[in-house]
Amino acid sequence: MHRNPNLQDELSELDKKYFLHPTSPIQQQQEHGPAFIFTRGDGIYLYDLSGKKMIDGMSSLWNVNIGHGREELGKVAKEQMSTLAFSSNFATFSNEPAIRLAKKLADISPGDLQSTFFTSGGSEANDTAYKLARHYWILKGQPNRKKIISRTKSYHGVAIGSTSATGLKPFRDFTNSLAPDFLHVNHHSSNSLRELIEKEGPDTIAAFITEPVQGAGGVHIAPHNYFKEVKELCEEYDILFITDEVITGFGRTGTYFGIEHDNIMPDMMCFAKGVTSGYAQLGGVMLSKKIHKVFSDMSTGTLLHGYTYSGHPMACAVALKNIDIIESERLIENAKRMGKELLDGLKIIQQVYPIIGKVKGKGLMGAIEFHNKNTEITLAPLIVNEAAKRGLICRSVVFDGQDTVVLAPPLVISKEELDHLLNILDDSIKAIIKQ
Ligand code: PMP
Repeated sequence: MHRNPNLQDELSELDKKYFLHPTSPIQQQQEHGPAFIFTRGDGIYLYDLSGKKMIDGMSSLWNVNIGHGREELGKVAKEQMSTLAFSSNFATFSNEPAIRLAKKLADISPGDLQSTFFTSGGSEANDTAYKLARHYWILKGQPNRKKIISRTKSYHGVAIGSTSATGLKPFRDFTNSLAPDFLHVNHHSSNSLRELIEKEGPDTIAAFITEPVQGAGGVHIAPHNYFKEVKELCEEYDILFITDEVITGFGRTGTYFGIEHDNIMPDMMCFAKGVTSGYAQLGGVMLSKKIHKVFSDMSTGTLLHGYTYSGHPMACAVALKNIDIIESERLIENAKRMGKELLDGLKIIQQVYPIIGKVKGKGLMGAIEFHNKNTEITLAPLIVNEAAKRGLICRSVVFDGQDTVVLAPPLVISKEELDHLLNILDDSIKAIIKQ
């Protein structure tokens, strides 16, 4: 099977010794080496060093929306890198791809989101949003409004601010001395939000941040009217509403951005991942007209927040081409249609296995929850392993006693490919339950 067993062994040994992997079980790596060494991607498929072909049922990290191996993006990146790979955007210096992308984002984003601050990814986007929200209140003469409220089971990233905002406790417990003034509220209850606001004092709260569908926490879809109610609360108490569209942006849920399902106009929006489908590192925060106006009218000094790579020309050029592909290939419509097929397929699987509690989905984000109360075993990690052997990459979520398999295939997936994915998943569940 191995094309070159020596290369596999050599890379595996080097990996163990030199590569400290993000969000990975380090002991497993030390014992077995990396799970896969990928060499190539094409559409919904990834190929590893041994030649094994796998369906990328997670779009890698929920991000490869247009699928793998798109040469058009390589071409754009090469051209931009060859003409202007990098220049500064500090001190009002600028570049055309960043300007054009900022304009395009204003055209496609919900509500009256207008101006964009660029980052290299979602964690930076989140930390930027918290800082800009607090700076907004400083400019408005209410510096006490500094608390950021987020939801339980949320994931907002791993910078110190975004770790503090993340509602999944294990991520916060990984370190200590987290950032102050971050509060968490039950992810499904607008009443809890009201109680928290009243308890803390509305004039101490800067912003509420939420994912439209909670992704990394286990694909949690909020109850009907939840977002409408929390948006009303935010308006009542003058609290900024920030939508974290790092996963749900750029078509993932069957609309351009996830918050559009609830017709809500956010004050700020974080994005990353799907903006380039992972072909370059890019994220950002968008500000509504109202927020932008306060910044532009009332800020007298320098906006003292900026990353070296804010508005990176190559990353922005790649993003423009990626968005072009999402639109010209009608991938948002496809995500909506295939998302329905995915959920229908999960419901059929659900009927076969009584051990399945709930199946969930919104666009191309889907999940199977097992209610495995009688045993000590969590099924999801076993099923994910079994699926990998059978050529499907999916993910398990076991935080807070959950036992869930999640899926988020690329938006380019066809009906035939989706059926294949569901068959592998079904076979994997069957195999594990039999054991
Ligand atoms: N917000 C959300 C909703 C995310 O899902 C993620 C990443 N999974 C982040 C923020 C952090 O993004 P990054 O990993 O690019 O820093």
